[in-house]
Amino acid sequence: TPIPDYLDEILDALRDDDSGSVADYIPALKAANPDLFAVALTTVAGRTYSSGDCDVEFSIQSMSKPFAYAAALADRGEPFVTSRVGVDPSGEAFNELSLETGSHRPRNPMINAGAITTHHLLVGSGTSRQIRVERAREFFSELAGRPLRIDERIVESELEAADRNLAIAHMLRNYGIIEDDPHEVVAGYTAQCSISVTVRDIAMMTATLANGGIHPVTGTTVVARPIARRTLSVMASAGMYDAAGSWFTDVGIPAKSGVAGGLLGALPGQVGIGTLSPRLDDHGNSVRGQRVFRRLSADMGLHLMDSE
Ligand code: GLN
Repeated sequence: TPIPDYLDEILDALRDDDSGSVADYIPALKAANPDLFAVALTTVAGRTYSSGDCDVEFSIQSMSKPFAYAAALADRGEPFVTSRVGVDPSGEAFNELSLETGSHRPRNPMINAGAITTHHLLVGSGTSRQIRVERAREFFSELAGRPLRIDERIVESELEAADRNLAIAHMLRNYGIIEDDPHEVVAGYTAQCSISVTVRDIAMMTATLANGGIHPVTGTTVVARPIARRTLSVMASAGMYDAAGSWFTDVGIPAKSGVAGGLLGALPGQVGIGTLSPRLDDHGNSVRGQRVFRRLSADMGLHLMDSE
């Protein structure tokens, strides 16, 4: 079957699954159409295939975390970034305040504590919220190959109920992991999470990570190869939070979920994948998105640990 027909078939086969529920802790996300369903693939040769609601924009949310981590590594260097945020799985929920004993570093950049730290590391020390947010937006736009915008409605809505992330940021400042005003850092991080994307953008952005940091369409080196490798490695061990182990065992694709229902995955040397389906499971991962990945992995033999 040609790839577009195959993608249509996968969506049709899974469309009826209405298990899970849309995120409700961010008021604006509660209003999302739960039936949206889309998938896109971008190969390292730069071809994109998609099906379903592939032009619908939604907030990138936690799928911003690997890209922000890559940008922070590029801006500040690996040793400094690693002195502030670790690379080990936390085995805990995404919004847990999980700090290592001794160093007080967040365990990894995929949980909120680590992602708030990573956002704070963008550009340089003592920089402003506007400059960090612009760095994230421009970097994500370069990866997507089109100018992305921030959905201010989502930012505002999430900031109305951001006590948990504020608590995390205050604790991070208490331990000297971040230096700036926790309110500014959380506002910047929330703006980063509110960048609007489609699954086609996500597949394109992820394809650069799958392609060793080289943009598959423009041929530009967006990040150095070791940064792409490090980012995918952290996605493999922590991208699905406390479900990361079972996810990697079953599917074998480094991935990152977002609470608006997005899911991205990267297969090194092959393809970037993006899906959208807003109903989430108890870990905060898209139910049908995960099923799409399971199908792709099984049908196309994409499990990284498979020797075929
Ligand atoms: N902005 C969201 C938060 O910080 C991102 C969480 C997610 O997508 N898992 O709570």
